[in-house]
This record gives sequence, structure tokens and C-alpha cells, in this order.
Amino acid sequence: MSHYYLWTIGCQMNQADSQHLSNYLESQGFQPAASMESADLVLLNSCVVRQSAEDRVIHQLASLKALKDANPSMVIGLTGCLVDSNIPQLQKRFPQVDVFFGPQAFGNLEEWMAARSVTKMSPTRHPACSRNGEPVEGPVLPTAFVPVIQGCDSFCTYCVVPFRRGREKSRPIAEIACEVKELVRRGVKEVTLLGQKVDAYGHDLPETQDLADLLTELNTLNRLSRIRFLTSHPQHMTTRLIDTIARLDKVCEHINLPVQSGDDGILTAMRREYTVQEYRELIKRIRSTIDGVALSTDVIVGFPDETEEQFQHTLELIQEIRFDSVHVARYSPRPGTWATRHLKDNVPHSIKRSHKKLLEATQSKISLEINQQLLGKNVEILVEGIEKDKWRGRTRTDKLVFFPDTVYHTGKLLQVKIEKASPWWLEGKPT
Ligand code: SF4
Repeated sequence: MSHYYLWTIGCQMNQADSQHLSNYLESQGFQPAASMESADLVLLNSCVVRQSAEDRVIHQLASLKALKDANPSMVIGLTGCLVDSNIPQLQKRFPQVDVFFGPQAFGNLEEWMAARSVTKMSPTRHPACSRNGEPVEGPVLPTAFVPVIQGCDSFCTYCVVPFRRGREKSRPIAEIACEVKELVRRGVKEVTLLGQKVDAYGHDLPETQDLADLLTELNTLNRLSRIRFLTSHPQHMTTRLIDTIARLDKVCEHINLPVQSGDDGILTAMRREYTVQEYRELIKRIRSTIDGVALSTDVIVGFPDETEEQFQHTLELIQEIRFDSVHVARYSPRPGTWATRHLKDNVPHSIKRSHKKLLEATQSKISLEINQQLLGKNVEILVEGIEKDKWRGRTRTDKLVFFPDTVYHTGKLLQVKIEKASPWWLEGKPT
């Protein structure tokens, strides 16, 4: 066995886990396969946060069943949030899968492979800083995700994450700094620190440390140019953290701060632990402290019992705050959550669809107006790669910028003069 195919869906945490899995498999001598069909080992990294994501995973599993029937020696693994503690039931449901392991339970895959002597080519593992006991390896890209806190203690009533990823657990600052140093040594210029509630980082560590301490430590690393962090929870965004973001030169001026609803009744039903007014005041504090900060948010439409008036409150909040970008999701009941057990999914699909469309159209207009303010201005971008014959990079404020050039630019920090703006991207020329 020598070729693997890794299919990933879901949040950045899943992407980080998949990067880690790829590094592990390649350190064991596996090579990426060009397609699922040509792989000896197929791993699906699943997401069940929304019904639509779960449906796509189930569809992939159905396709894999046909592949496995045609090629019984193919090994199939399933990880991510679809894998709960009831493995026997999963085995019954998906007999085509050989190995199940929960999010970040990389050791279970390793044990399974060792027990079955799954063939390796020539291992290339080198000792390095470890995450869950595994080395940092992998291809050199200018950006990398670094999980810093796992799990979530919040139990928002609609969310399945705490049931699948467990309670909050922060990694020690020294371990994270070691990993980031190693990434920088290998050419990484920008790291994104990840957590379901990244701003809750550190509260569970023996010495009281927080995200501000971690950012301060990483800001001292030579040759690291940028630090980002995802996703924040309004309840944990402290004044100390906001001041630290404003003070540290490498920490980018972009905060993703999910609001989920603009109505206090819905926020209470979601158990989000803040009011709309508290959220407004937080945004005001962030904007008055961090120069040029860009803000993005997440919203759920069609939560059980949401009335037209409550939806209008969300729409009004989006118009009032003028985020740089908004991600809108339609509510879907997730097995095991409080909302699924106690509330009826009673907002019709047609209303959810039209509310989502209306919010997205409203936000597109706002995003375009914000992006148009950059026309004729120079912005610094970190070039991440090439897409459809154009170089692609991001500003410190997380705006996507394209530019044409014949010279190789991946990994460079460049000044680009903006000439075109859309709600979703900018285009310009290097200066
Ligand atoms: S904060 Fe709420 S929505 Fe976010 S992961 Fe935790 S439970 Fe889910």
C-alpha cells in the first residue's frame, strides 16, 4: 500500500487536522493519490455541523461503498465529527469503513495501522516539535493553521461541536511556540491560531494564561510575519485581548466574531450568553481600539420559532454594524443538541431560503461599498499561490486579492495597488 486520498469538509479545524494527517501519512512513506479511485487508503474527514455537510459525507460514503465492492483491498477510514462514541453503530451503518477515529484521535489510526502492519514505504519521519505526539512535517506553504484549543464548553443549544470534540483543552504556550518556530523554519510566514472559541484559550492551563499571552509570545518570533486567530466568541473577547491585538505588529487586524442573531429572544434560546446591546458595545470597543480592523460574523436564520420580526432585527443589525463579510447558514437540527430535543424545526424551508438570500444580498452591497474604498490604494498582501492564471493573496484584513504577473511570487509580502473591487475579492497590480 502506498497511496492515500484525504477528503475534507467543514471548518478550519478539520482542515488543520487533515494537514496533520497528511503530514503523518507522508512521514510514514505514503504518497498522495491523484484520485479516490486510484488510492489504496481513503480517509474522509467529516463534518456534521449542518445537515448539508452531513449529506455530502453520506454521499461520499455511498460512492466509497461501490469502490470498495470493486476493490476490496482498499482501506477506508472515517474521522471528524460524524464519528461519535458509538463505533459499533457506525460500523453497522457503514460496513465499508475499516477504521473509525474521532476528531484528532490520530493515535487510534496509528495503532490500527500498526496492528495490521499496513504497508509503509520508506518512512521519512524526523524528530520535531510535536502535536499529540506527532512530528511537524509536510509541504512548505506560506500559511499554516495551528490548533491551540480543542473542544468547546459552551453548549449553544443548536451546536453539536461539544458532543463531538469534547471539553475545552488548551495546548501549553511553549508547545505551540515550538511548533510555530518549526513552521517558520520551514518557510511559513503566517499562522492562524485555531479554536472553536480561540479567545477562551488558556483558562484551563495550570498557570493562568490567555490568548493575549500567546499572541505576545508568538509576536517575538523572527521571520514570522503575520498571526491570525479563529473563531472568537463575544463572551471571551476581553479588553486586555483587544488592547493586545492593537499593540502587536504581527497580529492581523481581522476578527471573526459570530453574532448568530440580532434578536435577544433568539440569542437566549440559542444560549449565546450575550445580548445584542452587549455585542454592539463590544464592536464599538474593538473599532475604537484597533485601527482599520475588519470584522466578519456568522448568522443562523430560521432558528425554531424565529418570527419575521426577529429576523428583521438580525437584518437591521447587519445593516447597522456593516461587517466586512457575513456567513449565513440556515438552521438545521443536529442530533443530540438541546434544540433538537426540545424545539420544533418549525420555520419553513422556503422562509429560511429567502431570509438567507436577503441577508446575503444586503451584505454583498455593504461588502462592495467597503471594498470600493480601497480602489487606488496600496495594500500589503501575502501571496498564497496561483488561481486561474492569477496570483492570489490576502491582506492583513483577510481580503482576497488577485493580480497578474509572470514572476513567481508564492510566499512573498507585496504591495498591490487596487484597481478592481467586488464584494468578495479585489484585483490590482504589484507596485
Ligand atoms: S461556542 Fe457555541 S457554536 Fe461555537 S463551537 Fe461552542 S457550542 Fe458550538
